[in-house]
Amino acid sequence: MNLRSIFAITSPPDDNPELLRAQYLAFSRQMPMMYFILLSSTWALALTYVSTAPVWLSLGTPLLFTLMCGARITFWLRKRHIVPEFAEISANLRRVNILGTVIAVAFTAWSCTLYPYGDAFQKSHVAFYMAITVISCIFCMMHVRSAALMVTAIVNGTFVVFFATSGHLTLVATAINILLVCFGMLVVLKINYDNFEQMVLAQQKTEALSNENLRLANIDSLTGLPNRRAFFHHLETSFKLAQQNDDRLAVGVIDLDGFKPVNDLYGHSAGDRLLREVAERLGELCDQRNMFLARLGGDEFAFITSGQINDNEILNDGNKMGCLLRIPFETPDATIMISASIGIAVYPNVASTPDELFDRADYALYQSKREHRGNSTLFTARHIVEIHRDARIEQALRKADLDTELSVVYQPIQDVTSGETVGFEALARWDSKLLGAVTPSQFIPIAERAGIVGTLTKPLLKKALGAAKTWPGTIRLSFNLSAQDINSAEATLAVIAIIVNSGFDPRRLDLEITETAIIHDTRQARKSVEMLRKIGCGISLDDFGTGYSSLTSLHSLPLTKLKIDRSFVRNIQDDTASYNIVRSLLTLSREMGLDTIVEGVETEAELAVIKTLGCTLIQGYLFSKPMSDESLHAFLKPASTSVDQLSV
Ligand code: C2E
Ligand code: CA
Ligand code: CA
Repeated sequence: MNLRSIFAITSPPDDNPELLRAQYLAFSRQMPMMYFILLSSTWALALTYVSTAPVWLSLGTPLLFTLMCGARITFWLRKRHIVPEFAEISANLRRVNILGTVIAVAFTAWSCTLYPYGDAFQKSHVAFYMAITVISCIFCMMHVRSAALMVTAIVNGTFVVFFATSGHLTLVATAINILLVCFGMLVVLKINYDNFEQMVLAQQKTEALSNENLRLANIDSLTGLPNRRAFFHHLETSFKLAQQNDDRLAVGVIDLDGFKPVNDLYGHSAGDRLLREVAERLGELCDQRNMFLARLGGDEFAFITSGQINDNEILNDGNKMGCLLRIPFETPDATIMISASIGIAVYPNVASTPDELFDRADYALYQSKREHRGNSTLFTARHIVEIHRDARIEQALRKADLDTELSVVYQPIQDVTSGETVGFEALARWDSKLLGAVTPSQFIPIAERAGIVGTLTKPLLKKALGAAKTWPGTIRLSFNLSAQDINSAEATLAVIAIIVNSGFDPRRLDLEITETAIIHDTRQARKSVEMLRKIGCGISLDDFGTGYSSLTSLHSLPLTKLKIDRSFVRNIQDDTASYNIVRSLLTLSREMGLDTIVEGVETEAELAVIKTLGCTLIQGYLFSKPMSDESLHAFLKPASTSVDQLSV
C-alpha cells in the first residue's frame, strides 16, 4: 500500500454497478449516525460557549446546523429501504462529495470562530471537538473515500494551521497528534474499504457462479437445448398458464428410430454429431412455430406449444419434423439415414395434469413405434379405450395361471421346392379365465411393456420344446423370443437352461428375434445371440424389413435366417414396391449367406411370384394356419409315412 493509493480520490466505480450499489447501501445506512454524532458534539461545544460567545454563534448557528443535518437525516432514513437506479446512485454520491465539503467548511469555520471567545479549557474543547468529530465522520464516510478524504483535508488542514500557529505548546502537540492519528485512520480505512470491496466482488463471483450453475443444470450440454429438467419445469408453468387462459397446450415426444446402431457402427462422436444436427433441424422448425424444444436424454426429444392449436396442424407439424429427420445425415464416414416416431397429446382434450399430458404423449409415441414407425400419432379417445383394455389385460395376465392358461400352436414352414415341411413356428395362445381368448398381438406387447414377458417365455418355451421332442428328427422348431429375453444376461441364461434341460437338440431350434429387440441394447443383444449360438441354436431375424436399423449392423450379428415380414407379401403380384423390396431383401440375405423364410403367404398368386424370386422357405395360411400339437402330427403324417417308406 502506498501513500498515493491511500489518498487517491476515488470516484464511484462506474464500471461495476453492483459494487457501486453495495457501497451506496453501506454508506447510506451510516449517514444518519454521522449526522447524529456531528450534532451531539456540536451542541456539547455550543452549550459551553453560551455564556461567553454571541448568541448567533453559540445558539443561532448550531440551530441552523441542526435544521440542515435534520433534513439530511430524514433524507437518508427515508431512502433506507430503497435501492435507487444506477444513475441516481451516482448522482447521490456526487452530491455527497459536494455536501461533505460544504459541511466540513461550515463546521470548521464555526468552531474556529468560536475559539477566541473561550478560556483555556473551552479552547481545548474546540480542539477536542474538531479532532473527535473528524475521526467519527471519516469513519462513517469510509465507503465514499473521496468525501472522507475531502473532509479530512479541510478539517485537519485548518486544525493544524490554526493550532500549530496558536503558540500554545499543548495545542501544537494536539495538532501534530491529530495529524498522525488521521493518517493512521486513513490507512485503517483504506484496508477496511479494500476488504469491503473484495467481499462485494467475491459475492458477485459466487452469485455469477451459482447463476451459471443454474443455467448449466437446465441445459443439455451436447445440443445446447433445454434438458429434461427444464422441459418438465416449462411444462408445469405453461400448463398453469393454459389453465388460466383457457388455452390449449400440446406436448410432443420424439424418439429417433435407428439411432442406437449409429454409436456402435460409427462411434460416439458420429452419434453426438447426428444428435446435434437433429437438434438443429428440429430447432429451426420449432423457432418458426414458437415451440419449446428440449432434449429429454439419449435419442429422445420433446416439444411444447400452446395457444389455439388445431389437432390437424399440430399433427402436421409432427409429420414435418419426421420429414426433416428422414433427410440423410452426412458425416465424414457415412451417410446415415434415420427416422423419428412422434407421439402428441393435447390439453384439455385428453389430460388434466401436466404429468398425464406427458404420459399420454408418451403412449402415443409408443403407438407410433408399433403401428406407424417414423410418423406422428395424436393421442385420442380411442387410446383411452385401449389403455383401459390394456390395463385389464395386464391385470388378468398378472393373475393368470400361466401354466394352464397358456398354450402353444404351430404353423408349418414349407420348403416349396421339395414340398416338405421343414419346421414349425411356435405361436402363443392365451385362454384367459377372466377375459377369454386374447391374441398374442395384444398380450405380448402388454407383457413386454409391463416387463413380465419373461414369465410367459418360460412356460411357452417348455411346452414348445416338450411337444417338439415328439416330432420327427428332421423337423425344426422356431420359437419367438422377446427383447427382454435377450437384453439381459440373466434372462438369456434362463432361456438357455430351459433349452438344455428339455432334452431337445438345440441344433434343431431356431430362436426368432425382431430388429427392435436388437436395437434396444445392441451390445447385450449381441452377447446373448452369441451365447445362444454357442449352444447350437439358430437365430432368425423376424419381421425383417419393417424396422429401420442399418443393415450393416445386422451383418455383424451371427444370424442364421431372415424372415421377410408378411406386409411385403400382400398382393405382391400387383404391388411393384413390395415386389422390389422382397427382391432386394432376398438378394441381401443371399449375400449375407443366410436362409430366408417369406412369411404370410396366403394365395397361389403370391406364392408364384415369390417362387420366381428364388425363395424356397415359405410360411403362411396358404399351407396352414397355426395348429395344435395333435393336429400337427396328423398334418405331418403323409410326409412322415413317405420318409418311413423311404428308409424301409
Ligand atoms: P410373428 O412372430 O410374426 O408370427 C407370425 C404371425 O403371423 C402369427 O400371428 C401367425 O398366425 C400370423 N400368420 C402366419 N401366416 C399368416 C398369413 O398367411 N396371413 C396372416 N394374416 N397372418 C399369418 P399370431 O400367432 O397372432 O402372433 C402374432 C405375434 O405375436 C407374432 O408375430 C409374435 O410377434 C408374437 N408372438 C406369438 N407367439 C409368441 C411367443 O411365444 N413369444 C413371443 N415373444 N412372441 C410371440
Ligand atoms: Ca415370429
Ligand atoms: Ca414375423
